[in-house]
Amino acid sequence: MSNPTLEALPSPIVEVPPHPIWPTLGAAQKSALKARIRDLLKARDAVLVAHYYTDGDIQALAEESGGYVADSLDMARFGAESDARTLVVCGVRFMGETAKILNPEKQILMPDLRATCSLDEGCPVEAFSAFCDAHPDHSVVVYANTSAEVKARADWVVTSSIALPIVEHLSARGEKILWAPDKHLGRYIQRMTGTDMLLWNGACVVHDEFKSFALERLRQLHPDAAVLVHPESPAAIVDQADLVGSTTQLIKAVVEMPNQAFIIATDAGIFWKMHQLAPHKTLLPAPTAGEGATCESCARCPWMAMNSLQNLEQVLNSGDQEIHIDPAVRERAVIPIQRMLDFARAHGIGGKRN
Ligand code: SF4
Repeated sequence: MSNPTLEALPSPIVEVPPHPIWPTLGAAQKSALKARIRDLLKARDAVLVAHYYTDGDIQALAEESGGYVADSLDMARFGAESDARTLVVCGVRFMGETAKILNPEKQILMPDLRATCSLDEGCPVEAFSAFCDAHPDHSVVVYANTSAEVKARADWVVTSSIALPIVEHLSARGEKILWAPDKHLGRYIQRMTGTDMLLWNGACVVHDEFKSFALERLRQLHPDAAVLVHPESPAAIVDQADLVGSTTQLIKAVVEMPNQAFIIATDAGIFWKMHQLAPHKTLLPAPTAGEGATCESCARCPWMAMNSLQNLEQVLNSGDQEIHIDPAVRERAVIPIQRMLDFARAHGIGGKRN
């Protein structure tokens, strides 16, 4: 039986930016812009590595131009295996930092370095280090959605694709876990494994907004739809899931499950890949604002939305918006990331066919 969960004091309030509004492009403009980006990629010996939550145009261009679209585990793996001199990471800052940590010799560009993540912002290294220092008998496991400095303080880095088996592995060795920053994912893993875990009090601003009563009503309206939930969602949402999984696991479920309709509780950017792989299935977004709610949530990450074709072209022209990491931080941060990649390889976890 695990000990009761303890949480750190509330993490700092994270300021959420408004959604950027990009000028609408006509078909001819978009096609010309994509052609210019393809030329710039060639000229720079660069590839695009995009996350499933980015705009569909970016995901399509990444695939058309020899780049890659994936979850954060596979983005890291692809970046490490690519021969390109420059990786253009379309996602949020911790993904670019992970690419730099694994590939210090490569240039890592991002369309907008201000694209961050509420989990990363809510876990500043000074407070996190104090939390670790207060619990020296715990193994420190951090989610990939953290700064390079926080990773440098960790024993293990995990993504949602691999968090469960890694914690099971550590638990079987009798280790107690200090987990940061996502409390919902941490609680889910604790419930699934019974592991003794201390949780940081962070949350994703997108997944935290899913509403359980509204989801119950939607399920009643669509009784044959399977409910697919990302584990960054609150427990009341996870409890209604037919399947809980990482972005890659949710996409695979849409393709392979026999259901014709799905209710999806994760960032709506994922619909592009789901539609591409299962065009005849019906995808319904899980509700984010119950009646009377004041939030303006739309299940779209405001930081992921900072990636556009327009600023992608700009960064390929200018070469600014480059990720740099202090070498001393990098030297420590690479150890827990490499540990995760080695564990994934040894256990056959990850990859788009898994
Ligand atoms: S969707 Fe949530 S976890 Fe993902 S980058 Fe945005 S804020 Fe972070």
